[in-house]
Amino acid sequence: MRVAVLSGGVGGARFLRGVLAAVPPESVSIVGNVGDDLQVLGLHVSPDLDSILYTLAGLGDEERGWGRADETWNALETVATFGGEAWFRLGDRDLGLHLVRTELLRSGHPLSEVTARLARAAGLRAKLLPATDDPLRTFLETPAGTFAFQTWFVERRHEDEVDAVHYAGAPEAAPAPGVLDALADADAILIAPSNPYVSIGPILAVEPIRAALARRRVPCVAVSPLVGGRAVKGPADRMLARLAGGTTPAHVAACYDGLIDVLVVDDSDARSELPAGVRCVSTPTLMTDLEVSRRLVETALGATV
Ligand code: GDP
Ligand code: CA
Repeated sequence: MRVAVLSGGVGGARFLRGVLAAVPPESVSIVGNVGDDLQVLGLHVSPDLDSILYTLAGLGDEERGWGRADETWNALETVATFGGEAWFRLGDRDLGLHLVRTELLRSGHPLSEVTARLARAAGLRAKLLPATDDPLRTFLETPAGTFAFQTWFVERRHEDEVDAVHYAGAPEAAPAPGVLDALADADAILIAPSNPYVSIGPILAVEPIRAALARRRVPCVAVSPLVGGRAVKGPADRMLARLAGGTTPAHVAACYDGLIDVLVVDDSDARSELPAGVRCVSTPTLMTDLEVSRRLVETALGATV
């Protein structure tokens, strides 16, 4: 069974561990968000692709949920000492990957090729694809002004309420090589329990990707990022309340209007109507360990038959 998964960073990566425990890794294609990508200290950082890569390669910090395990911060302390930009947390081990990526991008290799090289070097057997090689960046409109994603999320600690989300560059962005094939060849498409607006939204903002999902011939199953109507971490619940008008499964499903056949929700959110054409399946979705993630994926895939 070939599976394509749309994924953001931390929540997506946790889910993807379950995918790789349930399905042979060689038959999995991951389409990752690049709307959070940024240039910092002259380096190209792809936080969501890296969260996925580190988690799946067993290199990630389990507790923090992002970045490398056994991380140290000497370079960043030096940056701060010398008056450099130090608000974006880059650890010493992490920096090495950004150096390699940036160098390859600068010598003309597209992000998809660079990502494939990094994934191969990390021992990943699943295909890791950026949604696009083109510059696509998420911006948040808030009462305090419009901010680039990382400025809003990290520097301003996502405290500003969001009135609108923009995906700069999306109209011109083409799917990265391999993305449309992965979607066309899949026997099932999964949408990870990532933030619908700032993780999955930028992927779907690439119009040919959205169109491929809209005309899919195989089931597409999304997993809600909410447990008991609340985000496990981050601003997804606040964003849903303000932008979609609520935090029920129906509000989550509305983010994927016309694109999904099944929404998997936590048992605590089960009693809720969904829009016509979308089936609701409930199961424990709090991914406290690999076994829960694997069972969640099996439930999601089981809902496709
Ligand atoms: P980011 O790109 O690093 O912010 O990560 P994602 O967008 O992929 O994941 C963030 C979302 O994952 C948040 O909205 C969380 O509510 C959700 N999330 C994290 N852990 C879990 C979990 O164990 N279960 C579910 N259902 N959602 C989770
Ligand atoms: Ca992200």
